[in-house]
Amino acid sequence: MTNVRALVLERQHELKLRDIDLPQTVGPGEVRIKIHTVGICGSDVHYYTHGRIGPFVVEAPMVLGHEAAGTVVETGEGVDHLKVGDRVCMEPGIPDPNSRASRLGLYNIDPAVRFWATPPIHGVLTPYVVHPANYTFKLPDNVSFAEGAMAEPFAVGLQAAAKAKIAPGDTAVVIGAGPIGTMVAIAALAGGCARAIVADLAQPKLDIAGGYQGVIPVNIRDKSLAAEVKRLTDGWGADVVFECSGSSKAWETLLDLPRPGGAAVVVGLPVAPVALDIATASTKEVRIETVFRYAHQYERAIALMGSGRVDLKPLISATFPFEDSITAFDRAVEARPADVKLQIRLPD
Ligand SMILES: [Zn+2]
Repeated sequence: MTNVRALVLERQHELKLRDIDLPQTVGPGEVRIKIHTVGICGSDVHYYTHGRIGPFVVEAPMVLGHEAAGTVVETGEGVDHLKVGDRVCMEPGIPDPNSRASRLGLYNIDPAVRFWATPPIHGVLTPYVVHPANYTFKLPDNVSFAEGAMAEPFAVGLQAAAKAKIAPGDTAVVIGAGPIGTMVAIAALAGGCARAIVADLAQPKLDIAGGYQGVIPVNIRDKSLAAEVKRLTDGWGADVVFECSGSSKAWETLLDLPRPGGAAVVVGLPVAPVALDIATASTKEVRIETVFRYAHQYERAIALMGSGRVDLKPLISATFPFEDSITAFDRAVEARPADVKLQIRLPD
């Protein structure tokens, strides 16, 4: 353990930039990374404001941050696909490689997964971190650190798009134009959808999502989403519907949106159980899919950014220096409607 500076969530509502003991020794199969950029995630903010997410409760001081990119500064024994100086981004969840879920390729749902900034595991808002090389991915020269740190939320979008089993030319509906909803829409379009109808109540969010080719923004303050989907699909319905708002209200009409034989992919998490209209789902044979983080999506996220087919830079709303991390978090708590992703840059 070494005393290093970090952004520490002491307890609910209390953040401090201070020294804390974190492991810095590089073991076999690990790399040490100098952190460059860390994105602020809704989950980081939620631990700050609520002190818990579902069963995960902040019971001891915890370093925040899990959306990170940086440079390899040391490699452990047996690491051959990365070298010192490589620019990388890191997958924040470390599963047990021998678990049954991991052996099935479903390592994201390994019950033993250790995920950065999910209590009691420390995050990476600190200058250096040690991480398994297998969950560390090299960035192409044309992908910046800021974009590299966007691979994490974009991987969620790609996992949702993969679960949807999109076919070329599909019409998607995305409910919720927050950071995840917008990334899901971009992923669905990259995955072959001809268009993504994106619904929200906040016009500034819709304006940002609407900047992407193929996105049709619908402000559900003035329009019925079901009527718009009907109109745009000649009454047939959408091939795939992504619920990304987490609002229980969305579930009241969600199953009216997919076409017969279509899919509903659940990304947003309502805080309380919601009623599900099984009769409507069954009559249309709607396929319902769930998403928990992602597995095997980082290479895809990086490949799409590197190819120039996906540009996530317009979603980065502001960048704060590490010393202003608390200001950055308080800005995230404000939840300004035009803020998509706030990032923190560590000192060079
Ligand atoms: Zn995140």
